[in-house]
Amino acid sequence: MKKTISLENLVNDPGCLSEYDPNAMKIEVARKYIHNFLKANTKTEYVNTEDALNRILGETIISKINVPNYNNSAMDGFAFNLDSLKEKNTLEIATTILAGNLSKHKIKPGFAAQVMTGSKIPNGTDTVLPFELVKQENDSIVVSKLPTKGANIRKLGEDIKKNGDVLKKGVFLRPAEVGLIASIGISKIKVFKKIKVSFFSTGDEVVKAGQPIKSGQVYDSNHFTIQSMLKRINVECVDLGIIPDDKKLIEKTFKNAAKVSDAIITTGGVSVGKADFMKDVLKKLGKVLFWKLSIKPGRPMAYGAFKATPYFGLPGNPVAAMITFYQLVQPALKYLMGQDNYKLPMLLKAKCVAPISKRPGRMEFQRGFFTSKNGELSVKPTPHQGSAILSSMSKANCLIVLDIDQKSIKVDDYVNIQLMEGLV
Ligand code: AMP
Ligand code: MG
Repeated sequence: MKKTISLENLVNDPGCLSEYDPNAMKIEVARKYIHNFLKANTKTEYVNTEDALNRILGETIISKINVPNYNNSAMDGFAFNLDSLKEKNTLEIATTILAGNLSKHKIKPGFAAQVMTGSKIPNGTDTVLPFELVKQENDSIVVSKLPTKGANIRKLGEDIKKNGDVLKKGVFLRPAEVGLIASIGISKIKVFKKIKVSFFSTGDEVVKAGQPIKSGQVYDSNHFTIQSMLKRINVECVDLGIIPDDKKLIEKTFKNAAKVSDAIITTGGVSVGKADFMKDVLKKLGKVLFWKLSIKPGRPMAYGAFKATPYFGLPGNPVAAMITFYQLVQPALKYLMGQDNYKLPMLLKAKCVAPISKRPGRMEFQRGFFTSKNGELSVKPTPHQGSAILSSMSKANCLIVLDIDQKSIKVDDYVNIQLMEGLV
């Protein structure tokens, strides 16, 4: 009989699904499993439109008005009836209509109104010509070349139609969307409540910046990268500090985290050797899977749940922690936050200007620096690619994404790159 895919089944019997290979799980499979056990945020709140940046829309917005809500001029120039130019090429200037003048004007054939960008198009006219294209002689204008009818007029509703959908529920609000909402006169909108994400670092050797450090210790960089990545996606961070490799303390911290947050992230303690230790603690508290992902860096990772709170156990190595966050955790958090259709930045082709040695069997996310010349992208891997070399992340502006089956790359081969700008 076919077993249902539940987190419990997987934890108790990791081999119960053919795709599940604890020795090397493909990243796409890991993404799928993670997604299966997530429940998207449904809690909403109202915020002022000016505070809506980087929030996720909690309702579909329908416009009550047309935008623009009147036919208006796209240029500083003259408005007239095109047909009246058929007989003679001169028009008399009847009046000037500034933007913001709400009066109803009527212009007779043979006459033109001086208009500004955003001015109402007066009745009786259907075309606008900019000042530069007409010759002004006293109170008249001379038009030497006939424009097309309707030229330089912005039509009622051409941006947004009355009663039309403006933005769909689940959209991430960038500056353009915030402006768009304001453009239909809405000053308060429903957004999904921010989710709370708890995070802590583990490791006896890990020390907080600002403290003295001894030989054999390492400053906690993961804490700061994880927190910064969380801040970029606008979640509420619950900082639970550095927890030494102590079962009791870790257990206490997990229990606390599950109570106060919508997701938990830890770094360290999930690699071989340490994994058994974390496994003991986590088995007692929830359902947790330990994965060996077929990616580099970021092979060890844990995923699970404490009651309904999803848990992401990231590797301790700083680059591996960042890569697994971007590739696996960020999409999951976006879904939890209520965002629809979050996509990782698309892959672009770039010519590799240095060789890269690679064996098939693992997907690699190498740190790279790309440049663009004459519209063509080139990329060079940063010199040190170790998963502990955090400066390789800082020196990079892209990830070179090498497929699982890909072999070594020669100079001038094309590779896929993922821009870091889009990731954050
Ligand atoms: P672990 O995954 O705990 O075996 O750690 C792997 C490596 O990452 C070890 O060299 C750790 O010292 C290092 N590491 C673990 N946690 C951190 C952290 N928070 N910041 C910087 N390095 C870390
Ligand atoms: Mg550790």
